Amino acid sequence: MIVMKFGGTSLGDGEAINRVVDIVCQTLKEKGGGIVVVVSAMSGVTDTLLSAAISAAQGDAETFRRARWHLSDRHRLAMTKVIGYEEARLQLMEEIEALLSDFENLCQSIHILGELTARGSDAVASLGERLTARILAAALRDRGERATAVEATAAIVTNGQHGSATPLMDETREAVQARLLPLLAEGVIPVVTGFIAATKEGVTTTLGRGGSDYTAAILGACLDSDEVWIWTDVDGVMTADPQVVPEARTLPEISYAEAAELSYFGAKVLHPKTILPAVERGIPLRILNTFNPPIPPCQGGQRGVAGKEGGGTLIMAEPKPSEFTVKGITSIKDLSLVTVEGRGMLGVPGIAAKVFTAVAQEGISVLMISQSSSEQNICFVIRAEAVERALRALEAAFELELARRNVDRVWAQDKVAIVAAVGAGMKGTPGIAAKVFGALGKHGVNVISIAQGSSEYNISFVVDEADMEKAVRYIHQEFGLGGARC
Ligand code: ADP
Ligand code: ASP
Ligand code: MG
Repeated sequence: MIVMKFGGTSLGDGEAINRVVDIVCQTLKEKGGGIVVVVSAMSGVTDTLLSAAISAAQGDAETFRRARWHLSDRHRLAMTKVIGYEEARLQLMEEIEALLSDFENLCQSIHILGELTARGSDAVASLGERLTARILAAALRDRGERATAVEATAAIVTNGQHGSATPLMDETREAVQARLLPLLAEGVIPVVTGFIAATKEGVTTTLGRGGSDYTAAILGACLDSDEVWIWTDVDGVMTADPQVVPEARTLPEISYAEAAELSYFGAKVLHPKTILPAVERGIPLRILNTFNPPIPPCQGGQRGVAGKEGGGTLIMAEPKPSEFTVKGITSIKDLSLVTVEGRGMLGVPGIAAKVFTAVAQEGISVLMISQSSSEQNICFVIRAEAVERALRALEAAFELELARRNVDRVWAQDKVAIVAAVGAGMKGTPGIAAKVFGALGKHGVNVISIAQGSSEYNISFVVDEADMEKAVRYIHQEFGLGGARC
């Protein structure tokens, strides 16, 4: 069994959807069955839905109405390009309009209340995937395949943490098998909404932005699939974001641990949580390009082989050893570096615990931590949007220490970015850090803070946001990642 997930660009318009239909039909022909499809919303749709809901809460009664008609036009246009049968078109049109009318009604209520709750936000955000699942299932039927749209709200059971809910795996496994196995047994392709799920009580939740990859891995784990294929708009996991480093190359094979580090530190090609269910069940993940698909061996192509052009990236427990110590360079921006400092912190136990408890109680996640050896300074990186809350929480937690001058100040540096060099071969290899920081020094890039975990799978450091792209390019070049075989 194979779970195939298609991202937003892969479903971005009628032409792209037709490619997806070709890929699914071709795979079905080769495998003879056992295919589950997972879809994202069309590119940009989740952003449109959410920003319309936010502006509705702020008193704007126009944007969400305009968004409805824009979304209606875009989905209708795509639909007319992928569905030939008039009757099927009319039926789908009705379904699209019903969902978009739900959107308008939800936004109207949000507008009246003047408040967008996390629960309301998930209800609105879920609509993009619900639209594409219906369109793709209808397009597959139009080509003569048996396919049906499946709402993941009836399959993936999560806790109630709206915006980044956590699946309850036992309940989910049961529900996924109950919902999907009968369809598969009848030879029907389930086209499942990515990104969305529901609580035990049936309230819609979402798995976090970019979470459709995670949906695919959850379904793969629950169905014990042979592989999970993530179809996107690049050839695989690359040595860097090709938008930042045009000469970046596709990595033929990487380990789960490397993929986890790369995605955690900004390689958007894979949602960081995708690795978890796959590792647990030992299911290989493959990243493939919808716009450059592998040619099956039966058609004489070499591109079906991982690592060759269009062969994608295979992510598994034990990839072939690589001559490359550093495999990829990643970066994340829109961050702030928070510092707690004071001479009175020296040797005082519990300061770090107090810092991170205060931040955790605010539900803020910390991306990187560093502490100076004199214990006079602890700094950590968080998303910029959380910085005000973090500072307030820390000032409250250290009120006494601040008054006694044991802690001198709690402050934040905005507009910083994390850059990370990742690769399993770094472990035990001397000179990697020297090479990373030597490259930066040579080009005059200032490093603000540094961290390396004891796993030695990555070296990460903080730079000014304006230096981020330069830093990625210099290190990529220093390790010869662009011009060499990886
Ligand atoms: P999808 O909509 O298919 O889920 P995403 O936009 O979420 O696709 O992820 C694909 C994008 O990830 C690529 O277009 C690329 O710009 C970006 N990206 C960032 N880092 C990497 C990397 N190391 N390798 C490949 N792509 C990367
Ligand atoms: N549509 C969702 C988002 O934009 C999920 C995804 O694309 O994976 O975040
Ligand atoms: Mg994505």
